Amino acid sequence: MIGNNTAELLSAADNSVLFTSIKPDLVMEKGQGMYLWDTEGNQYLDFIGGWGTNCLGHCPEVITRALQAQTTTLVNCSPAFYNKPQLEFAQLLTQASCFDRVFFTSTGAEANEGAIKLARKYGNKILGGAYEIITTQNGFHGRTLATMSATGKTHWKSLYAPKVSGFIHVPYNDLDAITEAVNPNTCAIMLELVQGEGGVHPANPEYITGLRKLCDEKGIMLIFDEVQTGFGRTGKLFAYEHYGIEPDVMTLAKGIGGGFPLSALLVKEKYNIFEVGDQGGTYTGQPLAMAVGLAVASEVIGKYLWENAEKQGRYIMDKLSELSEDLKLRNIRGLGLLIGMDLPDASAIAIVSECLKEGLIINTPNPTTLRLMPPLIVKKEECDKMLAILARVLKQYYSL
Ligand SMILES: *Cc1c(COP(=O)(O)O)cnc(C)c1O
Repeated sequence: MIGNNTAELLSAADNSVLFTSIKPDLVMEKGQGMYLWDTEGNQYLDFIGGWGTNCLGHCPEVITRALQAQTTTLVNCSPAFYNKPQLEFAQLLTQASCFDRVFFTSTGAEANEGAIKLARKYGNKILGGAYEIITTQNGFHGRTLATMSATGKTHWKSLYAPKVSGFIHVPYNDLDAITEAVNPNTCAIMLELVQGEGGVHPANPEYITGLRKLCDEKGIMLIFDEVQTGFGRTGKLFAYEHYGIEPDVMTLAKGIGGGFPLSALLVKEKYNIFEVGDQGGTYTGQPLAMAVGLAVASEVIGKYLWENAEKQGRYIMDKLSELSEDLKLRNIRGLGLLIGMDLPDASAIAIVSECLKEGLIINTPNPTTLRLMPPLIVKKEECDKMLAILARVLKQYYSL
């Protein structure tokens, strides 16, 4: 057993963990509410919130209770059977959204894979074999091979060749470009309502209403990847509610599990078209995950937590705008508690690292942009504390 010696723990990381990314020299040990603590006992105010997953903060009682109750009742019964929390959860989601059917998986990428398969199934069955899916440049849909191909990151273009074919990437927020790209092979359009990993870029209202019209005219499927924007994050339960239209298919992950691996593919009845054997997975509807999801969703919905996301998000954006001149921040943008801002130069990684030293966790989707996505339960005092640390770090870094 490794003890609580941070140096020993970090050497275990050096010796045994497959390298995929550069991480700071610390090990997280516990979390509570808006805070994390490392093995040295240092406290961090967490404005990433498990990468947008911990919507109820760290270790909320609802998750603890749901896990405790479900682990002594039923952990897994195989996907061959229905289970109770699965059915209750599916019903809650269909009642809270514009959708009729739900398929549960564990990660956002898997939910998107399901959406891609469904779109191809629909194209095959209804659209005479159409299989192409139009996605957007700078979008993000996950890290499986198909979802990487769907993703419009330029530096992924040559990674893991050959790519899964059948994806066309067009500029975001450009209705003419997407209209032009639609052809007889098109079966679906898939995009985020705020490009999250792409740098926090919300979709324009006319763009989204235009896409709905285009998809209706052409009979193709409109898929919203709400993995990051869903479940209260943007100040509505689902981001599509901002736009006054309904998609045909939506994927959810991140916030829906409150930090537990959980995702969902939601579809309108018209797209309830999978046949036996078309789609599945060992952990689909896994009872433990279902119990947690049900508990998290009941809390978010029962307490209208998106209203707090709207309120605190507005507060943060207003304060940032007030400070922007002093701090040299540009393009403060976002929806609810998904907020981005640009720095005067490509120092985002350094700023994130300085904030960490000062006990604040924030994130950077690209070298010039900072991103905030705190738990939905964040309070004004914590926003003030975050703003104070960020301001101090920026002033020091740029000698303002
Ligand atoms: C995070 C994210 C994904 C991938 O989710 P995973 O759980 O990491 O597979 C897909 N789409 C969007 C919009 C995301 O933000």
